[in-house]
Amino acid sequence: MSPDSLLPGCAKDEMQHRRDICVAGRWMYEQGYNVACEGNLSVRLEDDRILTTPTCMNKGMLAPEDLVVTDLDGRQLAGDRRFSSELAMHLLFYRMRPDVNAICHAHPPTATGFAVAGRALDLACLPEVIVGLGRIPLVRYATPGTPELSAALEPFVPHYDALLLANHGAVTCGPDLLTAFFRMETIEHFAKITLAAEMAGNPILLSSREVAKLMAARSRYFVTPPPGGGAELPVTSDVSESGEHVRLTRTELEALIDEAVRKDRSRR
Ligand SMILES: [Zn+2]
Repeated sequence: MSPDSLLPGCAKDEMQHRRDICVAGRWMYEQGYNVACEGNLSVRLEDDRILTTPTCMNKGMLAPEDLVVTDLDGRQLAGDRRFSSELAMHLLFYRMRPDVNAICHAHPPTATGFAVAGRALDLACLPEVIVGLGRIPLVRYATPGTPELSAALEPFVPHYDALLLANHGAVTCGPDLLTAFFRMETIEHFAKITLAAEMAGNPILLSSREVAKLMAARSRYFVTPPPGGGAELPVTSDVSESGEHVRLTRTELEALIDEAVRKDRSRR
């Protein structure tokens, strides 16, 4: 296998998984999803052993022998280095989702900007994102690497393949590492497009009817939704128009308030 390739599927031996993690780590670093020693990746090996990246190392410069193996309870089984405290988040997915064999965690700057601004990536803007991920919810803030973060994540894990972590970053899962990595790419790309659309004007959202058609077409695109079902749908144009969700910029809100105040004064 070339050092630049990363093939889908998980019928690989441990050395191939080690190489895959090094390749995906380098891709994430080169795309600016992580800097310094941020982020972590993992893959489920046979017998529920977890192969993961070490703490305090740049994820773009890893060698296969730097990786660590643990069990599902986070007990170290192999490797000279120490795993990240953020592995707890990965283990939660592996315990709750038998369909998940790989996790990517990163701090991609635009998506993390939404997470810092307290915003989910939940607008029904782009068909590919709706088909592939539905909406990307925002998980409330908890200190990274603590049981509190796992508790905050737990209600979302059965229902979503990609999550934003408030004031922190993003986490994606998949049946294999390539899929989990693509989901991280999709989050960041979607965040950039949402931001560009908001800078260019007001994003025009798809209707509930269009979203329903896309969700119904998932099997045609070989998309397997998370087994928990019940994921919330993205915010659509009709939901916005009905008044349930209205997004205003600060300037628009101030203009509305000014207008209301003016009308009120003119009546006196
Ligand atoms: Zn992190």
